[in-house]
Amino acid sequence: MKSRRLPLWLAISVSLCVFLLLNWLERRQPLRKQTEPKLRREARNIAVSALSAAAVQLTEIPLVLALMRYLLPRRWGILPHLALPLWAELPAALLLMDYTYYLWHVLLHRVPLLWRFHVVHHADLDMDASTALRFHFGEVLLTLPWRIGQVVLIGLTPLTYSAWQIAFLLSIMFHHSDVALPLEWERRLNRFIVTPRMHGIHHSIARRETNSNWSSGLTLWDWLHGTLRLNVPQREITIGVAAWRTLDSVTLPKIIELPFKPLPPVWRLPENGEPAPYAADSSPHQLLT
Ligand SMILES: [Zn+2]
Repeated sequence: MKSRRLPLWLAISVSLCVFLLLNWLERRQPLRKQTEPKLRREARNIAVSALSAAAVQLTEIPLVLALMRYLLPRRWGILPHLALPLWAELPAALLLMDYTYYLWHVLLHRVPLLWRFHVVHHADLDMDASTALRFHFGEVLLTLPWRIGQVVLIGLTPLTYSAWQIAFLLSIMFHHSDVALPLEWERRLNRFIVTPRMHGIHHSIARRETNSNWSSGLTLWDWLHGTLRLNVPQREITIGVAAWRTLDSVTLPKIIELPFKPLPPVWRLPENGEPAPYAADSSPHQLLT
């Protein structure tokens, strides 16, 4: 059982249904003002994601599966040592993957080589469920050593690995989505998981706001590390990266070649210096409208 992956058709059909549902909700009750026609952005983001999906299929998946085939009978890693029943092993694996991904996301922002590639994800001028799929294929390749470390340390099996892939995809599509949930619902949900308003703050052009809210599943990790910032109203946020403010600067060819060229000072607007963060006066853990 543990050596079997969840079927690919299940992953694809669940993700597609959730993507279409979010898309429908985004058109009915959008959270933020859009700067670019939605369909054109979505087409661009899906093109970027097709390259990174190909990179995952050709590198990460065969490598990780071969590694797990080798490690499984040898009982390497934290979870095989604990020998938990499946009902406990699965949530434990998701929890450990979620925390180690939090750490990786911090590194994506802090290490200059990684940031060059991750900035492509942030350079989207608007944010919706399609932004969740927009990762440069170079970021996927650079993530490989970290992913191998996660598999070895946690002791993932094909089952827990494939379950994490689906959970991760659903979670990032949800919190990148442009759906205006009722504020009270979202506040309740946000005590546990990352929600659209919370992650919108991470996609702000203001440096202090980007350098917060790094969690991608449970809100807990930002709370524990003191990186949780919820008190920025969505209308005060400009989505994207300060250095690239025009549609012309983020076309498909430009964002694909972006990591391979010298980066401009990304925190500075093309002519106006660095954008100031929102001067919040309420509690940083209070989600605003
Ligand atoms: Zn980020």
